[in-house]
Amino acid sequence: MAVSSVEAAHRPGGDSGEGGFAVRLPTGRVVRENDDVDYAGALKDAYGKGPAVCLCKAFLDQRKLKICRGDRENGVKYWVARYSGTGEEHTDGCRHSALHPLRTGAREYEAGVISERDDDGTVALRFRLPLSTRKSAVTPAPMPSRKDSADAAREDRRSASPLGLLHLLWERARLNVWEPQFGKGRFSGILRGRLAGAVDRIVLGRTELAAMFGSLFVPEPSGARDALHAVLGGAHTARRRVILVGEVLFSDAGEPYLAGGTRAYGVSLKLDAERIRQRFPRVAPIVGHGGRAVALVVAEVTGNRTHQGNHFLAVVDCVCMGVERMTWTPVDSTYELTIARKLYEEHRSFRKPLRFDAGRDVALADFELRDVGERPVPLEVFGREDGAYRGRAAQKHALYDELYGPLWWAWDATTSTDPPAFPAAR
Ligand SMILES: [Zn+2]
Repeated sequence: MAVSSVEAAHRPGGDSGEGGFAVRLPTGRVVRENDDVDYAGALKDAYGKGPAVCLCKAFLDQRKLKICRGDRENGVKYWVARYSGTGEEHTDGCRHSALHPLRTGAREYEAGVISERDDDGTVALRFRLPLSTRKSAVTPAPMPSRKDSADAAREDRRSASPLGLLHLLWERARLNVWEPQFGKGRFSGILRGRLAGAVDRIVLGRTELAAMFGSLFVPEPSGARDALHAVLGGAHTARRRVILVGEVLFSDAGEPYLAGGTRAYGVSLKLDAERIRQRFPRVAPIVGHGGRAVALVVAEVTGNRTHQGNHFLAVVDCVCMGVERMTWTPVDSTYELTIARKLYEEHRSFRKPLRFDAGRDVALADFELRDVGERPVPLEVFGREDGAYRGRAAQKHALYDELYGPLWWAWDATTSTDPPAFPAAR
């Protein structure tokens, strides 16, 4: 059976060349996700005959994967998924691996906000914003109140905000992980492929994210504009909001806009510059220092079109995240950008633990260095000298000792403009 282009485009991992480890099927056949042209057919033959085994480590290891089947809008699909809670069994470069929840900000959510379904490997997210446009006039989501307000903190635990969704997307697409064997960097086709693979496995409440999602990275492949317009038209008819992800650029006047929005993808929407400056003050400086910024936009299709056929969208909420330019790994500050760039240039393997909706007071490693032996080494930068920050540093170090062991690396950017040498790779 030939793999149709639609299936290929939606295949987990896409055409990324990253994390394509071989899988041994219960039929005895060994297939490789990104290379085998008959991958979908092989999974179809093996479906219902028992678990597959991921061969990401030694061949003797048994990391079982479930073979899943699902009816999607564009036909029947087959894929493999890990069983819930087994992400730590896989090697780091394997796309089935996952950080222990204690090492990401997702640990702050109440139980059930993010749940992995054992039957098909889908992740269900309890999303904070309504997805239907039936009741709402377009009113922008209220500006989140300060993180130290008890109500806001409680809300941050009970559901995922659009920022939580953006972090989940990046983590599931494994775009927070970098290894030198991934190549020179990630380009738009890789981003689109990896995000499509992640999007296919996420549901918000009961709605498949894929039915309302579009990524606007440029240059766009042929047909991308039509595919996006089909999603927008479908969402308008179904009175559903849409979720778009793309790169944010800043005009000379400092106005943020989505790269490729109007010209490549034919969508007309306006980002709220003041809102982005207030909520994400570190993003523009990261771009100014040679990083990039990514936005996730929740919007409604107004139904109006320009004479070029562009869709007008009304923005409900927009969240932003800084990333390192070549690897698209998230960074929270210009100091972190310096670290990520140095790690990339020195051909190191690293991972960025994501914060989700956890407040700044929740201790997380800034990065984990992954090529230093059995356990990762946490990397941390101190940017400020005030007492509260130092207090948090003490809390962080207690956590590091518990999660990672005694070895960790730190850069005190208040006393030294250059980071010290990283622990040697082994
Ligand atoms: Zn694996």
